[in-house]
Amino acid sequence: MAITYYKVDQYSVDWICDKCKEGFMRPYATIIKTKTDLIRHKCNKCIHTQSFPVVYPMQIVVPEGDEIDFQDGKETKADA
Ligand SMILES: [Zn+2]
Repeated sequence: MAITYYKVDQYSVDWICDKCKEGFMRPYATIIKTKTDLIRHKCNKCIHTQSFPVVYPMQIVVPEGDEIDFQDGKETKADA
């Protein structure tokens, strides 16, 4: 084994409120389900709430130059 290193691109991914289009959704509770736990989020500007399978804002790191794509809040690798 040997140490290796490489540059990465870091992204901060956030969800803008679907209702007021201004606030950001922030977690405040977890709904335990059998397969996928959902995290309840509340807008920091209005009263809108929404659940997601991830916590926003989230940080993702990909190899430098890799393209990322998001659909419905889920990261989908843009396979070449
Ligand atoms: Zn809002």
